[in-house]
Amino acid sequence: MMPGIFKTFKFRLFLSYLALSAGVLGAAFFLVYQRLERTEVSALRSKLSDEAALVSAQLRSSDIASPEINTLAHSLGLKVRSRLTIIGADGRVLADSELDSASVKGMENHADRPEVAAALEGEAAYELRRSATLGTVMLYAAYPVRFAGRTGAVVRLAVPASQLESLRTLLKKTLLAALALALLLSLFLSMAVSAGFSRPFEKIVYGSKKFAAGDFSYRIQKDFHGEMGRLAETLNSMSAAIQEYLRRVETQSQQLSAAFGNMAEGVLVTGPDARVTALNPAMERIFSVKTEASVSRPLLEVIPNARLSKICARVLSEGKPVSEEMELSTPVRGIFSVTASPVFENGGVSGCLMVVHDITEVRRLEAKRRDFVANVSHELKTPLTAIRGYVETLLGGAVDDRKHTIEFLGVIHAQAERLDNIVSDLLKLSSLESSAVEIRKGNIELKDLADSLIAGLASVFKSKNAVISNMIPPGLIVRADPEKLGQVFINLLDNAVKFSPGNAQVELSAQEPRGNVKVLIKDNGIGIPQNQLGRIFERFYRVDKARSREMGGTGLGLSIVKHVVELHGGSVGAESAEGRGSTFWFTIPK
Ligand code: ADP
Repeated sequence: MMPGIFKTFKFRLFLSYLALSAGVLGAAFFLVYQRLERTEVSALRSKLSDEAALVSAQLRSSDIASPEINTLAHSLGLKVRSRLTIIGADGRVLADSELDSASVKGMENHADRPEVAAALEGEAAYELRRSATLGTVMLYAAYPVRFAGRTGAVVRLAVPASQLESLRTLLKKTLLAALALALLLSLFLSMAVSAGFSRPFEKIVYGSKKFAAGDFSYRIQKDFHGEMGRLAETLNSMSAAIQEYLRRVETQSQQLSAAFGNMAEGVLVTGPDARVTALNPAMERIFSVKTEASVSRPLLEVIPNARLSKICARVLSEGKPVSEEMELSTPVRGIFSVTASPVFENGGVSGCLMVVHDITEVRRLEAKRRDFVANVSHELKTPLTAIRGYVETLLGGAVDDRKHTIEFLGVIHAQAERLDNIVSDLLKLSSLESSAVEIRKGNIELKDLADSLIAGLASVFKSKNAVISNMIPPGLIVRADPEKLGQVFINLLDNAVKFSPGNAQVELSAQEPRGNVKVLIKDNGIGIPQNQLGRIFERFYRVDKARSREMGGTGLGLSIVKHVVELHGGSVGAESAEGRGSTFWFTIPK
């Protein structure tokens, strides 16, 4: 047997059954034995007392001194079917029914035998004792024999208490057999009971182990009742509750991490020691850091910016949210809106949650819009001021001077035309920028388009002595909106002539690099300083404001060009050598 079995429920149950039955059996047998012994002894006693009376009646005082006493004892002993001993008043044995007279003489004095001593005192006495002579348990009964009122001798009868002895052995045997039966019964009972107990028990233990290992979908099979059944039920419903709770927590955390992962704002969480515990992909993007390399490092190490760390420290120490807009130069350049809030746990600040929003682009667009509004106002204000000035002069009396009036009206007309140009260019731009802009694409033969446009502008070119040569190869076809592409050609041709001091020579050509058509407009004009080449496509940007205005420019022509080309999926650019001319180009995908 394994030592472990001693600790099992089954074994303990078996032991208790055994102990219980052994205890009950032992007590029962003790009581039964005592009872039987008492009945047996009292039956023997009454038998012996009758026989003693018989013997006493037959004894004469003369018999005591007679040498025939032993013979008498023998015959009386036969009658009473007991061992009969006659003892003199001095304790000496006078006769014995089972010994010859010689042996009687050799017997020791019996005065000190308890029953004899009591009988010598005149009392009938009994004693249950193992006989020294025979070695068996005997019941001794001693009776005084009175001669003339005095105790002259003692008659002692002895019967073997053999029934008692056999009763004892029988009881012993029965007890042993009963005990063996109890042992078997205990074994069987404990096995049966513990089997009934241990199956549910094992199931519950198995289920508990499953739960402990985190498998809350497991259910204990409940094909038993009573306390065990209720315990299994409770465990099952506990596991179901935990499973449901875990499911909810998981859903929540999935939702949170989806939100966390897909937010445009950078989110970073620190512990109470300002060490980073988590950050989202947006944060990784903004500051070019990696989560794995950042977690559990101090914030200042992850994002080396003192202002951010200070905000975090303030939130951690004050426990109040802080919001700031700041322009950073390290570790990245930009304008950021930073909101840092404390994270509370058990009433204390356990961390800082920092949300960083990159508003560089927003601010840049705002600035651009402000600039644009200022530019537009300024552009409109100049011709309006001129118009107003001339009208006021005319109203002030100059109207009477016909020569001046004509001259002034000419200026007013020119300024009104300029206003008109600006407004129509702005409208064109805004329609190009609107999301509802429509591009009606068709197949355009580039050379034909350029030729017809050049013909349309012939009078303008002629007045400036400009020579336009169209070198675009015939048969080159692109898919584009003809009206809008025409505007691109007009603006670029107009600029090429406008910014050439005299005898402008403009050359149109086309190339076909990698799936694109590239159109080039080359002039021999004033050129553009290298450092300003990058800005000429901006709205209202002009290298020489006065000259542009003088030429009736609005500063919006190249912006329109850029917008149209980009709407068609192409790009624009310019190369220039100051004083020697410029080459503008744009591409249109084929
Ligand atoms: P504008 O109405 O002034 O022509 P644009 O947007 O068309 O406005 O051009 C912006 C500026 O770019 C011009 O003011 C001029 O300074 C420069 N520019 C454009 N085209 C040329 C060119 N072909 N040669 C020299 N400078 C040019």
